[in-house]
Amino acid sequence: MLKTVAAFDRIGEENAFAVLARATQLAAAGRDIINLGIGQPDFRTPDFIVEAAVKALRDGHHGYTPAVGILPLREAVAADLGKRFRVRLSPDEVMIMPGGKPTMYMAIVMFGEPGADILYPDPGFPIYRSMIEYTGARPIPVPIREENGFAFSAEETLRLITPQTRLIIVNSPANPTGGVTPKAEVDRLVAGLERHPDVAIMSDEIYDHMLYDGETHVCLLSYPSIRDRLVLLNGWSKTYAMTGWRLGYAVWPGKLYDYARKLAVNLYSCVNAATQYAGLAALTGPQDECARMVAEFDRRRKIVVAGLSKLPGMSCTTPKGAFYAFPNIKRTGWKSKPLANALLDESGVALIGGPDFGVLGEGFLRVSYANSTENILRALDRMGEFLASRKAA
Ligand code: PLP
Repeated sequence: MLKTVAAFDRIGEENAFAVLARATQLAAAGRDIINLGIGQPDFRTPDFIVEAAVKALRDGHHGYTPAVGILPLREAVAADLGKRFRVRLSPDEVMIMPGGKPTMYMAIVMFGEPGADILYPDPGFPIYRSMIEYTGARPIPVPIREENGFAFSAEETLRLITPQTRLIIVNSPANPTGGVTPKAEVDRLVAGLERHPDVAIMSDEIYDHMLYDGETHVCLLSYPSIRDRLVLLNGWSKTYAMTGWRLGYAVWPGKLYDYARKLAVNLYSCVNAATQYAGLAALTGPQDECARMVAEFDRRRKIVVAGLSKLPGMSCTTPKGAFYAFPNIKRTGWKSKPLANALLDESGVALIGGPDFGVLGEGFLRVSYANSTENILRALDRMGEFLASRKAA
Protein backbone atom coordinates (compact mmCIF):
# COMPACT_ATOMS: atom_id res chain seq x y z
CA MET A 1 0.00 0.00 0.00
CA LEU A 2 1.31 3.43 -0.87
CA LYS A 3 1.41 5.64 2.20
CA THR A 4 0.52 9.16 1.12
CA VAL A 5 0.06 12.07 3.51
CA ALA A 6 -3.37 12.50 5.09
CA ALA A 7 -3.73 16.07 3.83
CA PHE A 8 -4.51 14.76 0.35
CA ASP A 9 -7.63 13.01 1.60
CA ARG A 10 -8.91 16.41 2.67
CA ILE A 11 -8.65 18.13 -0.71
CA GLY A 12 -12.06 18.97 -2.13
CA GLU A 13 -13.12 19.85 -5.68
CA GLU A 14 -15.04 22.24 -7.80
CA ASN A 15 -18.22 20.50 -8.83
CA ALA A 16 -18.66 22.86 -11.78
CA PHE A 17 -16.00 20.80 -13.56
CA ALA A 18 -17.84 17.52 -12.78
CA VAL A 19 -21.10 19.02 -14.09
CA LEU A 20 -19.28 20.22 -17.21
CA ALA A 21 -17.89 16.71 -17.76
CA ARG A 22 -21.35 15.14 -17.34
CA ALA A 23 -22.96 17.75 -19.61
CA THR A 24 -20.29 17.12 -22.25
CA GLN A 25 -20.84 13.36 -21.96
CA LEU A 26 -24.61 13.74 -22.41
CA ALA A 27 -24.11 16.08 -25.37
CA ALA A 28 -21.69 13.57 -26.96
CA ALA A 29 -24.43 10.94 -26.59
CA GLY A 30 -26.70 13.13 -28.71
CA ARG A 31 -28.65 15.04 -26.02
CA ASP A 32 -29.36 18.74 -26.48
CA ILE A 33 -27.72 20.19 -23.36
CA ILE A 34 -27.81 23.86 -22.37
CA ASN A 35 -24.92 24.63 -20.08
CA LEU A 36 -25.63 27.28 -17.47
CA GLY A 37 -23.22 25.57 -15.10
CA ILE A 38 -19.84 26.83 -16.14
CA GLY A 39 -18.15 29.97 -14.84
CA GLN A 40 -16.47 31.21 -17.96
CA PRO A 41 -17.39 33.84 -20.54
CA ASP A 42 -18.86 32.37 -23.71
CA PHE A 43 -16.97 34.96 -25.79
CA ARG A 44 -13.74 34.45 -27.69
CA THR A 45 -10.59 36.12 -26.40
CA PRO A 46 -10.38 39.37 -28.41
CA ASP A 47 -8.33 38.88 -31.60
CA PHE A 48 -5.67 41.49 -30.81
CA ILE A 49 -4.82 39.58 -27.62
CA VAL A 50 -4.49 36.29 -29.49
CA GLU A 51 -2.32 38.02 -32.10
CA ALA A 52 -0.02 39.39 -29.39
CA ALA A 53 0.64 35.85 -28.16
CA VAL A 54 1.33 34.59 -31.68
CA LYS A 55 3.68 37.51 -32.30
CA ALA A 56 5.47 36.86 -29.00
CA LEU A 57 6.19 33.29 -30.05
CA ARG A 58 7.33 34.43 -33.52
CA ASP A 59 9.57 37.03 -31.88
CA GLY A 60 11.27 34.31 -29.89
CA HIS A 61 9.61 34.72 -26.50
CA HIS A 62 9.53 31.03 -25.80
CA GLY A 63 11.94 30.67 -22.92
CA TYR A 64 11.66 31.03 -19.17
CA THR A 65 10.76 34.44 -17.84
CA PRO A 66 11.48 35.72 -14.31
CA ALA A 67 9.43 33.69 -11.82
CA VAL A 68 7.46 36.81 -10.85
CA GLY A 69 6.65 37.65 -14.48
CA ILE A 70 8.05 39.99 -17.14
CA LEU A 71 8.63 43.56 -15.97
CA PRO A 72 6.48 45.29 -18.66
CA LEU A 73 3.50 43.21 -17.58
CA ARG A 74 4.04 43.91 -13.87
CA GLU A 75 4.35 47.59 -14.76
CA ALA A 76 1.14 47.43 -16.76
CA VAL A 77 -0.71 45.81 -13.85
CA ALA A 78 0.61 48.44 -11.42
CA ALA A 79 -0.39 51.22 -13.83
CA ASP A 80 -3.85 49.74 -14.41
CA LEU A 81 -4.58 49.37 -10.68
CA GLY A 82 -3.09 52.82 -10.05
CA LYS A 83 -5.35 54.39 -12.66
CA ARG A 84 -8.55 52.59 -11.74
CA PHE A 85 -8.30 52.84 -7.96
CA ARG A 86 -5.97 55.81 -7.46
CA VAL A 87 -3.43 53.73 -5.56
CA ARG A 88 0.34 53.91 -5.71
CA LEU A 89 1.79 50.54 -6.49
CA SER A 90 5.26 49.40 -7.48
CA PRO A 91 5.67 46.67 -10.12
CA ASP A 92 7.81 44.95 -7.49
CA GLU A 93 4.69 44.28 -5.44
CA VAL A 94 2.96 42.62 -8.41
CA MET A 95 3.50 38.98 -9.30
CA ILE A 96 2.20 37.37 -12.48
CA MET A 97 0.48 34.07 -11.65
CA PRO A 98 -0.77 31.11 -13.71
CA GLY A 99 -4.44 32.05 -13.13
CA GLY A 100 -6.38 33.23 -10.11
CA LYS A 101 -6.39 29.93 -8.23
CA PRO A 102 -2.64 29.72 -7.53
CA THR A 103 -2.82 32.98 -5.53
CA MET A 104 -5.52 31.45 -3.36
CA TYR A 105 -3.48 28.29 -2.92
CA MET A 106 -0.32 30.17 -2.01
CA ALA A 107 -2.01 32.58 0.41
CA ILE A 108 -3.82 29.73 2.17
CA VAL A 109 -0.68 27.58 2.52
CA MET A 110 1.18 30.60 3.90
CA PHE A 111 -1.27 30.97 6.79
CA GLY A 112 -2.99 27.60 7.17
CA GLU A 113 -1.78 24.99 9.63
CA PRO A 114 -3.30 22.96 12.44
CA GLY A 115 -4.39 25.35 15.19
CA ALA A 116 -5.02 28.25 12.80
CA ASP A 117 -8.48 29.52 11.79
CA ILE A 118 -9.22 30.88 8.32
CA LEU A 119 -12.46 32.72 7.59
CA TYR A 120 -14.05 32.24 4.18
CA PRO A 121 -17.42 33.09 2.58
CA ASP A 122 -20.23 30.51 2.60
CA PRO A 123 -21.65 30.20 0.00
CA GLY A 124 -18.37 30.95 -1.74
CA PHE A 125 -15.84 29.68 -4.24
CA PRO A 126 -15.34 26.02 -3.21
CA ILE A 127 -11.56 26.02 -3.51
CA TYR A 128 -11.19 28.30 -0.47
CA ARG A 129 -12.55 25.68 1.91
CA SER A 130 -10.86 22.82 0.10
CA MET A 131 -7.43 24.39 0.44
CA ILE A 132 -8.01 25.48 4.04
CA GLU A 133 -8.82 21.86 4.93
CA TYR A 134 -5.78 20.65 3.05
CA THR A 135 -3.52 22.75 5.26
CA GLY A 136 -5.11 21.39 8.46
CA ALA A 137 -6.38 24.84 9.48
CA ARG A 138 -9.96 25.20 10.72
CA PRO A 139 -12.32 26.57 8.06
CA ILE A 140 -14.64 29.17 9.61
CA PRO A 141 -17.54 30.02 7.30
CA VAL A 142 -18.71 33.62 7.14
CA PRO A 143 -22.43 33.49 6.23
CA ILE A 144 -23.33 35.30 3.03
CA ARG A 145 -27.02 36.07 3.31
CA GLU A 146 -29.71 36.51 0.70
CA GLU A 147 -31.46 39.13 2.85
CA ASN A 148 -28.23 41.12 2.70
CA GLY A 149 -28.24 41.06 -1.13
CA PHE A 150 -25.45 38.46 -0.82
CA ALA A 151 -23.01 41.09 0.42
CA PHE A 152 -20.79 40.07 3.30
CA SER A 153 -21.49 41.57 6.71
CA ALA A 154 -18.56 43.35 8.34
CA GLU A 155 -20.05 42.84 11.78
CA GLU A 156 -20.59 39.12 11.33
CA THR A 157 -17.09 38.70 9.90
CA LEU A 158 -15.44 40.63 12.72
CA ARG A 159 -17.39 38.69 15.33
CA LEU A 160 -15.88 35.42 14.07
CA ILE A 161 -12.29 36.56 14.62
CA THR A 162 -10.50 34.76 17.47
CA PRO A 163 -6.87 34.77 18.59
CA GLN A 164 -6.41 31.79 16.24
CA THR A 165 -7.57 33.68 13.14
CA ARG A 166 -4.74 34.12 10.66
CA LEU A 167 -6.44 34.91 7.38
CA ILE A 168 -9.79 36.27 6.17
CA ILE A 169 -10.90 35.65 2.61
CA VAL A 170 -13.31 38.11 1.02
CA ASN A 171 -14.78 38.07 -2.47
CA SER A 172 -16.76 40.86 -4.12
CA PRO A 173 -18.22 40.73 -6.74
CA ALA A 174 -18.87 37.19 -5.64
CA ASN A 175 -19.13 33.72 -7.03
CA PRO A 176 -21.64 31.98 -6.77
CA THR A 177 -24.14 34.67 -5.77
CA GLY A 178 -23.22 37.70 -7.92
CA GLY A 179 -23.34 39.68 -4.66
CA VAL A 180 -21.49 42.97 -4.38
CA THR A 181 -20.56 44.35 -0.98
CA PRO A 182 -21.21 48.11 -0.66
CA LYS A 183 -18.34 50.47 0.12
CA ALA A 184 -19.78 51.41 3.53
CA GLU A 185 -19.67 47.74 4.57
CA VAL A 186 -16.08 47.35 3.32
CA ASP A 187 -15.18 50.54 5.24
CA ARG A 188 -16.62 48.97 8.39
CA LEU A 189 -14.71 45.74 7.86
CA VAL A 190 -11.42 47.56 7.35
CA ALA A 191 -12.03 49.79 10.39
CA GLY A 192 -12.66 46.66 12.48
CA LEU A 193 -9.60 44.91 11.09
CA GLU A 194 -7.46 47.77 12.35
CA ARG A 195 -8.03 46.24 15.80
CA HIS A 196 -6.60 42.92 14.55
CA PRO A 197 -3.19 43.73 13.10
CA ASP A 198 -2.11 40.07 13.07
CA VAL A 199 -4.86 38.97 10.71
CA ALA A 200 -4.08 38.85 6.98
CA ILE A 201 -6.71 39.46 4.29
CA MET A 202 -6.99 37.89 0.88
CA SER A 203 -9.32 39.82 -1.39
CA ASP A 204 -10.46 37.88 -4.45
CA GLU A 205 -11.39 40.58 -6.96
CA ILE A 206 -11.41 38.48 -10.13
CA TYR A 207 -14.84 39.87 -11.17
CA ASP A 208 -13.90 43.51 -10.56
CA HIS A 209 -14.91 44.64 -14.07
CA MET A 210 -18.29 42.93 -13.98
CA LEU A 211 -20.53 45.34 -12.13
CA TYR A 212 -24.04 46.54 -12.97
CA ASP A 213 -26.66 49.08 -11.92
CA GLY A 214 -24.05 51.82 -11.53
CA GLU A 215 -21.97 49.94 -8.93
CA THR A 216 -18.27 50.83 -8.81
CA HIS A 217 -15.64 48.42 -7.62
CA VAL A 218 -14.15 48.83 -4.16
CA CYS A 219 -10.55 47.58 -4.33
CA LEU A 220 -9.09 46.71 -0.95
CA LEU A 221 -5.73 48.11 -2.06
CA SER A 222 -7.25 51.56 -1.55
CA TYR A 223 -7.21 51.12 2.27
CA PRO A 224 -3.70 52.08 3.48
CA SER A 225 -4.29 50.72 7.00
CA ILE A 226 -4.35 47.08 5.76
CA ARG A 227 -1.94 47.34 2.82
CA ASP A 228 0.87 45.62 4.74
CA ARG A 229 -1.23 42.46 5.19
CA LEU A 230 -3.44 42.44 2.12
CA VAL A 231 -3.09 39.87 -0.65
CA LEU A 232 -4.94 40.89 -3.81
CA LEU A 233 -6.08 38.14 -6.20
CA ASN A 234 -7.03 39.11 -9.72
CA GLY A 235 -6.42 38.07 -13.30
CA TRP A 236 -7.43 37.99 -16.93
CA SER A 237 -9.68 34.90 -16.97
CA LYS A 238 -13.05 36.57 -16.68
CA THR A 239 -12.43 40.16 -17.81
CA TYR A 240 -10.79 39.25 -21.11
CA ALA A 241 -12.41 35.83 -21.68
CA MET A 242 -9.07 34.12 -21.10
CA THR A 243 -9.90 31.23 -18.74
CA GLY A 244 -7.87 28.67 -20.68
CA TRP A 245 -4.76 30.82 -20.99
CA ARG A 246 -4.06 30.53 -17.25
CA LEU A 247 -3.05 34.07 -16.43
CA GLY A 248 -3.58 35.98 -13.21
CA TYR A 249 -1.78 38.33 -10.90
CA ALA A 250 -1.33 38.89 -7.21
CA VAL A 251 -0.20 41.82 -5.10
CA TRP A 252 1.78 40.45 -2.14
CA PRO A 253 2.78 42.55 0.85
CA GLY A 254 6.24 42.51 2.46
CA LYS A 255 7.89 39.13 2.90
CA LEU A 256 4.93 37.29 1.39
CA TYR A 257 6.16 38.41 -2.03
CA ASP A 258 9.39 36.49 -1.61
CA TYR A 259 7.57 33.45 -0.24
CA ALA A 260 5.30 33.47 -3.28
CA ARG A 261 8.26 33.90 -5.63
CA LYS A 262 9.98 30.89 -4.04
CA LEU A 263 6.82 28.80 -4.30
CA ALA A 264 6.66 29.72 -8.01
CA VAL A 265 10.30 28.72 -8.51
CA ASN A 266 9.66 25.40 -6.83
CA LEU A 267 6.35 24.73 -8.53
CA TYR A 268 6.19 26.06 -12.09
CA SER A 269 9.24 28.35 -12.68
CA CYS A 270 7.22 31.03 -14.48
CA VAL A 271 4.00 31.66 -16.33
CA ASN A 272 3.95 30.71 -20.02
CA ALA A 273 5.88 33.50 -21.79
CA ALA A 274 3.57 34.07 -24.76
CA THR A 275 0.58 34.22 -22.44
CA GLN A 276 2.24 37.05 -20.53
CA TYR A 277 2.58 39.05 -23.76
CA ALA A 278 -1.09 38.39 -24.46
CA GLY A 279 -1.89 39.76 -21.00
CA LEU A 280 0.20 42.85 -21.72
CA ALA A 281 -1.74 43.50 -24.93
CA ALA A 282 -5.02 43.00 -23.04
CA LEU A 283 -4.17 45.62 -20.42
CA THR A 284 -2.60 48.18 -22.71
CA GLY A 285 -4.86 47.74 -25.77
CA PRO A 286 -8.40 48.95 -26.43
CA GLN A 287 -10.88 48.03 -23.70
CA ASP A 288 -14.04 48.24 -25.81
CA GLU A 289 -14.50 44.49 -26.35
CA CYS A 290 -14.30 43.97 -22.63
CA ALA A 291 -16.91 46.70 -22.10
CA ARG A 292 -19.12 45.09 -24.76
CA MET A 293 -18.97 41.75 -22.93
CA VAL A 294 -20.03 43.40 -19.67
CA ALA A 295 -22.91 45.19 -21.43
CA GLU A 296 -24.05 41.89 -22.91
CA PHE A 297 -23.87 40.17 -19.51
CA ASP A 298 -25.96 42.98 -18.09
CA ARG A 299 -28.64 42.45 -20.75
CA ARG A 300 -28.74 38.71 -20.04
CA ARG A 301 -28.74 39.29 -16.30
CA LYS A 302 -32.06 41.10 -16.58
CA ILE A 303 -33.53 38.33 -18.71
CA VAL A 304 -32.32 35.63 -16.30
CA VAL A 305 -33.60 37.36 -13.17
CA ALA A 306 -36.99 38.11 -14.71
CA GLY A 307 -37.28 34.57 -16.08
CA LEU A 308 -36.22 32.78 -12.89
CA SER A 309 -38.53 34.92 -10.76
CA LYS A 310 -41.51 33.72 -12.80
CA LEU A 311 -40.75 30.00 -12.37
CA PRO A 312 -43.01 28.11 -9.96
CA GLY A 313 -41.63 28.31 -6.42
CA MET A 314 -38.54 30.34 -7.34
CA SER A 315 -37.45 33.84 -6.45
CA CYS A 316 -34.28 35.61 -7.47
CA THR A 317 -32.35 38.46 -5.87
CA THR A 318 -30.93 40.75 -8.55
CA PRO A 319 -27.17 40.14 -8.66
CA LYS A 320 -25.06 43.28 -9.01
CA GLY A 321 -21.89 41.66 -10.26
CA ALA A 322 -20.12 38.70 -11.92
CA PHE A 323 -22.24 36.57 -14.32
CA TYR A 324 -24.22 34.44 -11.93
CA ALA A 325 -27.72 34.45 -10.52
CA PHE A 326 -28.45 32.54 -7.32
CA PRO A 327 -32.20 31.86 -7.25
CA ASN A 328 -33.94 30.69 -4.10
CA ILE A 329 -35.75 27.40 -4.76
CA LYS A 330 -37.03 26.69 -1.26
CA ARG A 331 -40.70 27.03 -2.20
CA THR A 332 -40.35 24.46 -5.01
CA GLY A 333 -40.08 21.72 -2.37
CA TRP A 334 -36.87 20.46 -4.00
CA LYS A 335 -33.45 20.25 -2.40
CA SER A 336 -30.78 21.91 -4.51
CA LYS A 337 -28.68 19.00 -5.70
CA PRO A 338 -31.54 16.62 -6.58
CA LEU A 339 -33.11 19.48 -8.54
CA ALA A 340 -29.86 20.30 -10.37
CA ASN A 341 -29.35 16.61 -11.19
CA ALA A 342 -32.93 16.12 -12.38
CA LEU A 343 -32.80 19.28 -14.52
CA LEU A 344 -29.67 18.00 -16.23
CA ASP A 345 -30.86 14.41 -16.72
CA GLU A 346 -34.46 15.11 -17.62
CA SER A 347 -34.46 18.59 -19.14
CA GLY A 348 -30.90 18.91 -20.42
CA VAL A 349 -30.15 22.08 -18.41
CA ALA A 350 -26.82 22.10 -16.56
CA LEU A 351 -26.74 24.19 -13.36
CA ILE A 352 -24.89 23.88 -10.07
CA GLY A 353 -26.57 23.13 -6.76
CA GLY A 354 -25.97 25.77 -4.08
CA PRO A 355 -24.46 23.27 -1.57
CA ASP A 356 -21.47 22.88 -3.90
CA PHE A 357 -20.50 26.33 -2.60
CA GLY A 358 -21.04 25.64 1.09
CA VAL A 359 -23.71 24.45 3.50
CA LEU A 360 -25.54 27.77 3.34
CA GLY A 361 -26.03 27.21 -0.38
CA GLU A 362 -28.83 24.70 0.32
CA GLY A 363 -32.08 26.02 -1.12
CA PHE A 364 -30.35 27.80 -4.01
CA LEU A 365 -29.03 27.06 -7.49
CA ARG A 366 -26.19 28.79 -9.29
CA VAL A 367 -27.18 29.86 -12.77
CA SER A 368 -24.37 31.16 -14.97
CA TYR A 369 -25.60 33.50 -17.70
CA ALA A 370 -22.41 33.12 -19.68
CA ASN A 371 -24.47 31.62 -22.50
CA SER A 372 -26.46 33.09 -25.40
CA THR A 373 -29.79 34.80 -24.77
CA GLU A 374 -31.42 32.21 -27.01
CA ASN A 375 -30.06 29.36 -24.88
CA ILE A 376 -30.96 31.16 -21.65
CA LEU A 377 -34.56 31.53 -22.84
CA ARG A 378 -34.72 27.88 -23.91
CA ALA A 379 -33.31 26.81 -20.53
CA LEU A 380 -35.88 28.92 -18.66
CA ASP A 381 -38.69 27.34 -20.70
CA ARG A 382 -37.42 23.86 -19.94
CA MET A 383 -37.06 24.63 -16.24
CA GLY A 384 -40.58 26.00 -16.15
CA GLU A 385 -42.00 22.90 -17.85
CA PHE A 386 -40.04 20.64 -15.51
CA LEU A 387 -41.20 22.39 -12.34
CA ALA A 388 -44.81 22.50 -13.52
CA SER A 389 -44.89 18.79 -14.33
CA ARG A 390 -42.69 17.09 -11.73
CA LYS A 391 -43.16 16.71 -8.01
CA ALA A 392 -40.17 17.26 -5.74
CA ALA A 393 -38.02 14.15 -5.26
N1 PLP B 1 -11.93 33.33 -7.80
C1 PLP B 1 -13.23 33.22 -8.08
C2 PLP B 1 -14.22 33.86 -7.18
C3 PLP B 1 -13.65 32.50 -9.21
O1 PLP B 1 -14.95 32.39 -9.48
C4 PLP B 1 -12.67 31.88 -10.03
C5 PLP B 1 -13.06 31.08 -11.20
O2 PLP B 1 -14.16 30.63 -11.37
C6 PLP B 1 -11.34 32.03 -9.68
C7 PLP B 1 -11.00 32.76 -8.57
C8 PLP B 1 -10.26 31.33 -10.45
O3 PLP B 1 -9.86 31.97 -11.58
P1 PLP B 1 -8.82 31.30 -12.57
O4 PLP B 1 -9.61 30.51 -13.57
O5 PLP B 1 -8.11 32.46 -13.19
O6 PLP B 1 -7.90 30.42 -11.79
